[in-house]
Amino acid sequence: KIKQIAIYGKGGIGKSTTTSNISAALVEAGYKVLQFGCDPKSDSTNTLRDGKYIPTVLDLLREKPKVDAHDAIFEGFKGVYCVEAGGPAPGVGCAGRGIITAVELLKQQNIFEELDLDYVIYDVLGDVVCGGFAVPIREGIAEHVFTVSSSDFMAVYAANNLMKGIKKYSNSGGALFGGIIANSINSPYQQGIIEDFAKQTSTQIVEYVPRSITVTQSELSGRTTIEAQPNSKQADVYRSLARKIHEHTESRVPTPLEIDDLRAWSARWADQLLAIEAGEVRGVQAN
Ligand code: ADP
Ligand code: SF4
Ligand code: MG
Repeated sequence: KIKQIAIYGKGGIGKSTTTSNISAALVEAGYKVLQFGCDPKSDSTNTLRDGKYIPTVLDLLREKPKVDAHDAIFEGFKGVYCVEAGGPAPGVGCAGRGIITAVELLKQQNIFEELDLDYVIYDVLGDVVCGGFAVPIREGIAEHVFTVSSSDFMAVYAANNLMKGIKKYSNSGGALFGGIIANSINSPYQQGIIEDFAKQTSTQIVEYVPRSITVTQSELSGRTTIEAQPNSKQADVYRSLARKIHEHTESRVPTPLEIDDLRAWSARWADQLLAIEAGEVRGVQAN
């Protein structure tokens, strides 16, 4: 059975980097994977293909009305399949509708079965959980949703909104929440913040991923860390994350915070960081 996963998060938080490394780790482990970029930026699969961009489904549909889905699928690192949904022309149409159109095109032509996939991983923009971007959750396209978040308030805010969207559709066959992928976590206080947020929202941290020069180097070379620096510590972090996603079976309904509660929560952390800065918390350094 195909496992379909969606990875959401605020723009620039590291969704595509993380997703591509998960895909690379899964193909390396022998699974058949299709990464489906659902960000109108359409750069999701870039580092799986030596930094090369691919035409998007919506671009192809604009050129001709009848598109063979095979023309939108490109192979990358160790045979990983790459698709970019693309976006509507700027100022025209709904990006979320574009995602449905792109996914439908592949489904109607039975591509997932034909390719005998183990995984489809959707990389979805999640700043706003409007009806459009909620499509992979709402329409039962994905079964498990993960979010990439750092410990920064705006990233947590976006993660909390995503959880609200999931909760809303959870009674009508929507996808459920798998957990938080904590990205750019390099110090104990950052770990403390995101871990506490997971606890408050009845979910879990799937993996802590440090911010690392190894990722920057890999990206500059146009590749994932799994490909560019396979023996690095960072590559092992991504392999561990991929393994946990592989072993994950039960997603749940999260308990997002109401905005006042989220603010009260962040104010408690503001006090805590003041104490850390003042050197009042033993064993925790501000850096
Ligand atoms: P998104 O897809 O969420 O918009 P990207 O995956 O494109 O974000 O990441 C944005 C930038 O952050 C990229 O330049 C990427 O290399 C960098 N980045 C993401 N995660 C890490 C990390 N763990 N360490 C170092 N740089 C990172
Ligand atoms: Fe854009 Fe969302 Fe509105 Fe669609 S529903 S047009 S994706 S804001
Ligand atoms: Mg991206």
